[in-house]
Amino acid sequence: EITCSTGDTVVIGLAADSGCGKSTFMRRLTSVFGGAAEPPKGGNPDSNTLISDTTTVICLDDYHSLDRTGRKEKGVTALDPRANNFDLMYEQPPKIFVIEGLHPMYDARVRELLDFSIYLDISNEVKFAWKIQRDMAERGHSLESIKASIEARKPDFDAYIDPQKQYADAVIEVLPTQLIPDDNEGKVLRVRLIMKEGVKYFNPVYLFDEGSTISWIPCGRKLTCSYPGIKFTYGPESYFGHEVSVLEMDGQFDRLDELIYVESHLSNISTKFYGEVTQQLLKHADFPGSNNGTGLFQTIVGLKIRDLFEQIVASRTAAPLQATKA
Ligand code: ADP
Repeated sequence: EITCSTGDTVVIGLAADSGCGKSTFMRRLTSVFGGAAEPPKGGNPDSNTLISDTTTVICLDDYHSLDRTGRKEKGVTALDPRANNFDLMYEQPPKIFVIEGLHPMYDARVRELLDFSIYLDISNEVKFAWKIQRDMAERGHSLESIKASIEARKPDFDAYIDPQKQYADAVIEVLPTQLIPDDNEGKVLRVRLIMKEGVKYFNPVYLFDEGSTISWIPCGRKLTCSYPGIKFTYGPESYFGHEVSVLEMDGQFDRLDELIYVESHLSNISTKFYGEVTQQLLKHADFPGSNNGTGLFQTIVGLKIRDLFEQIVASRTAAPLQATKA
């Protein structure tokens, strides 16, 4: 058990296969917090492995400016404040600490550290379409080699990566559209935001009426929809044996500013002002997925994390007072 975590650090786990949108999600998350993304010092920003990711857990003991030999030379003990690098600590008091990579929810002890966890679940068809886009169009790989590399990864992916989704508090599942019969392009997406019920500090988003089952096609007077249109569904489901609420968006927006119409019909989105979701998506319209459910739900999860963070910090600040009373 790690006991040295600072009071205002909230730890988030973000798991997904590589090339499945973790960096994009991180950019949306940092934007919601109003900051620029900065990998913790000593951490590898491109790392995808559990080992290098966990080394970025921040605790006071990590800030020793003098190691054992250095302390001996200077004649100070580890208890001496001169052995600590307070400047470094002050420079980087992390608010949201994200353990991001292939395995953040793999190990039960690491899972215990997480205040909230997210899994980006990209279906094989969509993963394939994204890889083709990136590796073929941008890196000049052949279709066959992309297929082969996905196939080669699959056994380990199925064994070690995919099972983590059962532990996630929120899963963003990305599937081919159902609005176009036999679609195999992977351009129009059906995206499902699967939200665990009963998670402290996390109130799932809902559409119109909490707990009901809803199907909504918002295309009409307020929203421009060209073929194949947009369809939302919402309702309770069971996911790996636990209760979840699922909000689904199939299709994509023609005009991003009209997203405000959809936003105004969603509840519990943890915005600080009317239209914040739409504003975020417009601000980052160039990020992949801003016109569909991937961008919409990544942004909403970012807002939920901000909300969760504020609640946790408030509760931790209040806790010592309660302790003195007792
Ligand atoms: P990761 O950090 O998991 O490797 P990135 O966020 O860097 O993933 O995304 C990798 C690539 O996948 C992007 O460059 C883009 O081509 C594609 N991609 C990611 N998210 C989306 C999305 N929502 N819609 C379309 N393509 C996407």
